[in-house]
Amino acid sequence: MIRFGIGYDSHRLVPGRPLILGGQHVPFDLGLAGHSDGDAVAHALTDALLGAAALGDIGTHFPDTDPRWKGADSLDLLRWAVALLHERGFTPLQADITVIAERPKLGPFFAAMAAALGSAVGIPTGSIGLKAKTNEGMGFIGRGEGIAAIAVATVEAD
Ligand code: MG
Repeated sequence: MIRFGIGYDSHRLVPGRPLILGGQHVPFDLGLAGHSDGDAVAHALTDALLGAAALGDIGTHFPDTDPRWKGADSLDLLRWAVALLHERGFTPLQADITVIAERPKLGPFFAAMAAALGSAVGIPTGSIGLKAKTNEGMGFIGRGEGIAAIAVATVEAD
């Protein structure tokens, strides 16, 4: 049986933090705030995979009150979630992700992001879709206050 999951995440852009998206460092003058590295792309994908297996969300497994996850590499959280899926009899198949950011331009980083995310999930790079949208100047994303990501993932249940 094929199951679908959806994930959403957003983080605030702040000075003094590196911008990490899809496991890649994207050169920019601001970075994403967060208990972990703030990687909204990895978090949305993690939630989509957990959701497809009805295994809760990133907040239940990695509470931001837990010092173990402070400054965590979000690809590690993703790998942990994928291991949980396998343990429960689910195999990730593919994912499609839209990143919503007014700046910076993310397209040049998509190949590296897909490689990093695919490797963490254990699926081919070509099974990770990545798209970037601006918010046409509207709302918190349009004002450059934050970045959001939406992900859909499919998994196969054994
Ligand atoms: Mg997050």
